[in-house]
Amino acid sequence: MKIVLVLYDDPVTGYPKTYARDTIPKLEVYPDGQKLPNPKRIDFKPGELLGSVSGALGLKKFLKELEHTLIVTSDKDGPDSVFEKELVDADVVISQPFWPAYLTKERLAKAKNLKLAITAGIGSDHVDLQAAIAKGITVAEVTFCNSISVAEYIVLMILSLVKDYIPSYNWVVKKGWNIADCVQRSYDLEGMDVGSVAAGHIGLAVLRRLKPFGVKLHYTERHRLSEKVEKELGLTYHENLESMVRVCDVITINCPLHAETEHLFNDRLISQMKRGSYIVNTARGKICDAEAIARALKSGQLAGYAGDVWFPQPAPKDHPWREMPHDGMTPHVSGTSLSAQARYAAGVREILECFFEKKPIRTEYLIVDQGKLAGIGVHSYVAGDTTGGSERAIQFKK
Ligand code: NDP
Repeated sequence: MKIVLVLYDDPVTGYPKTYARDTIPKLEVYPDGQKLPNPKRIDFKPGELLGSVSGALGLKKFLKELEHTLIVTSDKDGPDSVFEKELVDADVVISQPFWPAYLTKERLAKAKNLKLAITAGIGSDHVDLQAAIAKGITVAEVTFCNSISVAEYIVLMILSLVKDYIPSYNWVVKKGWNIADCVQRSYDLEGMDVGSVAAGHIGLAVLRRLKPFGVKLHYTERHRLSEKVEKELGLTYHENLESMVRVCDVITINCPLHAETEHLFNDRLISQMKRGSYIVNTARGKICDAEAIARALKSGQLAGYAGDVWFPQPAPKDHPWREMPHDGMTPHVSGTSLSAQARYAAGVREILECFFEKKPIRTEYLIVDQGKLAGIGVHSYVAGDTTGGSERAIQFKK
C-alpha cells in the first residue's frame, strides 16, 4: 500500500541531536478511563521530535518491514505540491492539524485509491467530511491524545491575557523597567466569570483546572454534563451561547469546527459580549470570523484574544491576526508538545496496525466510517464541509 505522511518541517536549526529532558512522564490511562494508545510495538523513544519530516511519526521502520511505500513530505499546498501529486494513488493519508493536508472535495475526487485519512492529533475538519462520507473513506483521529496538552495551554493563555504578560516580558527584552506601562492593562483572574464553549475532553479539563483560581465557571454544550459534575465544579449551564457570553469576562472555545460552528464568533455575537472580554481559542481558527476579532480588539470591545489556531494553516503572512493589538497568538503548537507527539504517534501506529490486519479501529477514534459519521464523530461533529478557502494556505510560501 502507499501511505502519504504530511508533516511540518524540521527545525531551522536541523533535527535535534539532544533534548532538554531525558524522559517524559509515563501515563497509565486518560482521565475518563480511556486506554492510552496500545500498538504492538513502537520504534521511537517517547520525548523525541516525531511530528516533523525527519521524525516521520516513528513509522519508517514499521512500514518498511511490511513493504509499504511511505512518502513523507511537508509540501502540501497548491496543485504542484508533492502531496497533491502523490495523493492520486495513495491508500492512506496521514496529517496533523498543526500542518493540515487539506482534503477538499476536489482532492478527494483525485484520490482514487484512498481508503483511510488519519488525523495524527484531534480535529478532522481539514477533511471534507461530507465528501468522505460520499466516497466511503474512513476518517479517524487519536481521540484524547493531546486534550490535556491543550487544556494546560488554555490556562496559560487565559492568565497571559488577563495579566497582560507578553508586553511585560517584551519590556525586559527591550532593557526597560516600565512598570506603569506593564500594569495599565493587567488584572487578576480571581472573581471573574469564565465560560467554556463545549465541555468535551478539553473543555471539561479546562473547567477542572480553573476551579482553584476562585472564578465563576460557565459552559454551554449540546449534551449537558451530569448534575454531579456540575455541582462538583460549581458550573452554570447555559442553553445557548448568547446567554453565556453576555455574563462572562473570559471565553474559552473548545468545540470542534464543523458546519454549525464555522464563524460562530462574528460581529453580532462579539457585540453581545461584555466590553473588555477576553477570548482564548485553541479549537479552530475558523470558529471565529478573523476580521471581526481584529475589529473588536481595535475598538476595545475585546480586551484580548489568544490562541494557536488559524485559518488557513500555515497562516498567510498578511493574516489579520499577525498584527492585531492585544493578542497572544502562537503558531498551532499546543497539541504537539513532545509529550503529546509520543501519544499520537503511538495512536497512529495502532490505527495502521488495525487497518492492515483488517481489525476494527477503536470506535472512539472514528469520525467517519462506512459512509456515515461514526464513533466520536457522531457525538461531536455534524456532516458537512469546512475546508472552503483552504487553498489560500499556499500564500504562506509567497
Ligand atoms: P471532544 O470531542 O471531546 O469535545 C468536543 C465537544 O464539543 C463535544 O463535547 C461536543 O459536544 C461539543 N460541541 C460540538 N458542537 C458544539 C456546539 N455547536 N456547541 C457547543 N458544543 C459543541 O474533543 P476535544 O475536547 O478533545 O477537542 C475539541 C476540539 O479542540 C477538537 O475538535 C479540535 O478542533 C481542537 N483541538 C485543538 C488542538 C490544538 O492543538 N490546538 C488539539 C486538540 C484538539 P456534544 O457532543 O454535546 O455536541
